[in-house]
Amino acid sequence: MRVGIGYDAHRLAEGRPLVLGGVTVAYEKGLAGHSDADVVAHALMDALLGGARLGDIGEMFPDTDPRWAGSDSILLLEAVATRVRDAGWLLEDADCVVVCEAPKLAPHRDAMRRRLAEAVGVEADRIGLRATTTEGMGFEGRGEGISAHAVVLLAPA
Ligand code: MG
Repeated sequence: MRVGIGYDAHRLAEGRPLVLGGVTVAYEKGLAGHSDADVVAHALMDALLGGARLGDIGEMFPDTDPRWAGSDSILLLEAVATRVRDAGWLLEDADCVVVCEAPKLAPHRDAMRRRLAEAVGVEADRIGLRATTTEGMGFEGRGEGISAHAVVLLAPA
């Protein structure tokens, strides 16, 4: 067995859609980044690559490469999952935490779990996801950005 951990954070900005876990959430701001800046998908990708010892998403999808500009991160996650499978690892379980003061994410949680599970090719019950606030503390609490953590457990195929 292998474990992997991933973390990502992006800044909230005007005029961007808010995409989290592959789901577009109605909100006055969205996350800024080279791709769609989906912090949940990015944290999960890094956890998968970490567990499989395949480097990180910065290496796989450099943000200097115009091919990845505006990318749908769910497609990037699919590519990561394929690479991890090709390296001989199966995703047994994953758990994700989104740190976000607003908007409320609970209504979108199951849709995000389904999207992420579909992208990595597992049943939705293998993907845990929840959101928490920081009671106003830090950059997430001030509404400057959103972060996400993910852990995975991989088993040899
Ligand atoms: Mg990122």
